[in-house]
Amino acid sequence: MANYFSDHPEIAFHLNHPLMKRIVELKERNYEDAKTYDYAPVDLGDAIENYKQILDITGDVAANIIAPNSESVDLEGPHLENGRMIYASKTVENIEAMRKAGLFGVSMPRRYGGLNLPNAIFSMLSEIISAADAGFQNIWSLQSCIDTLYEAGNEDQRQRYIPRICAGETMSMDLTEPDAGSDLQRVMLKATFDEKENCWRLNGVKRFITNGDSDIHLVLARSEEGTKDGRGLSMFIYDKRNGGVDVRHIEHKLGIHGSPTCELTYKNAKAELCGSTRLGLIKYVMSLMNGARLGIAAQSVGLSQEAYNEGLAYARERQQFGDKIINFPAVYDMLSRMKAKLDAGRSMLYQTACYVDIYKCLEDIARERALTPEEKQELKKYQRLADAFTPLAKGMNSEYATSASTAAAASSWSTSASASTATPASSASTRVPPSCRSSPPSVISSTAPCSRTSRT
Ligand SMILES: Cc1cc2nc3c(=O)[nH]c(=O)nc-3n(C[C@H](O)[C@H](O)[C@H](O)COP(=O)(O)OP(=O)(O)OC[C@H]3O[C@@H](n4cnc5c(N)ncnc54)[C@H](O)[C@@H]3O)c2cc1C
Repeated sequence: MANYFSDHPEIAFHLNHPLMKRIVELKERNYEDAKTYDYAPVDLGDAIENYKQILDITGDVAANIIAPNSESVDLEGPHLENGRMIYASKTVENIEAMRKAGLFGVSMPRRYGGLNLPNAIFSMLSEIISAADAGFQNIWSLQSCIDTLYEAGNEDQRQRYIPRICAGETMSMDLTEPDAGSDLQRVMLKATFDEKENCWRLNGVKRFITNGDSDIHLVLARSEEGTKDGRGLSMFIYDKRNGGVDVRHIEHKLGIHGSPTCELTYKNAKAELCGSTRLGLIKYVMSLMNGARLGIAAQSVGLSQEAYNEGLAYARERQQFGDKIINFPAVYDMLSRMKAKLDAGRSMLYQTACYVDIYKCLEDIARERALTPEEKQELKKYQRLADAFTPLAKGMNSEYATSASTAAAASSWSTSASASTATPASSASTRVPPSCRSSPPSVISSTAPCSRTSRT
């Protein structure tokens, strides 16, 4: 059975990254969670085994549900009905499969219902899902907005919103407006404090919002009357359950049709402040954008991998002048370059994700206790590296993905995806210890048992 993780050992190779030991050490805080959660790791080896299992389950769902659904999703696309965005029917099936597998809110601490996954592993999941359907990866990976809510929100907000994302609700980040694109300082959507109801009210328009009819939105809005620049902007949480936001248009795009890009109207929508006023653009949007950049880098690596697979399969099968075209030096050279760029881009992605992990983990520890001088130095070093590498990882990989996809599309429309004939993936879940599953999927039973299995 196809599996987008185990079929590409290049991904697992990055689990051996030298920084991984430090990341797990920081992320797991001496493996404290193992006392409370039977699926939490007890040591480094156990943590890596757990990551492999989660990646394996994702590879199974990606290859056997998301990939076979992708053509139908692309043809049907989302549509608008009475101010609501309705997903393509197979997108609903994809979301349900990811929910059942426990693949929402995966980066969040276990106390909120998450899997406490580092960024590096989240990026691997993103790559795998993108290889199956890049449009669906957009929807799924927007769950990373929860990282910003976790960092900026108060404990009450964390407790109310994070478990909902872990249970499978979706997110969006509402920044762009008709007159504020690259220049977000011009955002005009107005936030006013409603003294009577003791809440904020949002009024205005947002444009080009991916998954814009999501359950929980992070919204950039102007809270400071009379201001015109970024210093008057704050971040708000809008909960769809409260109403007040309608979708008035869905963009007709050239690709990733399954991913709804929405125009939204906010009419007195009830919202709550996330973090401090005036720091919306300066601090929180930067955090959102850096998360999104890594997401696009991972999406691009997944796309490049699929484009390379298609191109290679076609070149091995197609004959001209009595020979397979892969044997012509010009074609071989093209494929070698694609593979070299793919591997380089993937290394860049996981190297960057590791830098991000170290500084984010240290920032999180600093919320609990004072850091030692050495830890402070370490945080500074990796934050600088992450800041420099994040835009590079995004820029480099998205350029590679565009050229790889164009080359592969031009030569291989006739090859069919191998996953399309595979049997549907089973009901594997990342939160249920393998020994407790009633009917273990073949993909799980074929892997070596992890150490946590013996403890359950
Ligand atoms: C598919 C898709 C999904 C999106 N999803 C989201 C989302 O989820 N949330 C969200 O908030 N936004 C989203 N956006 C919006 C996206 O962030 C904006 O499109 C982007 O910020 C650019 O803004 P703009 O389109 O208004 O272009 P403009 O800012 O008007 O730019 C037009 C052109 O001018 C160039 N330009 C602008 N300023 C400069 C400068 N200083 N120097 C040189 N060149 C410049 C740009 O590079 C571009 O080529 C999405 C957009 C797309 C296409």
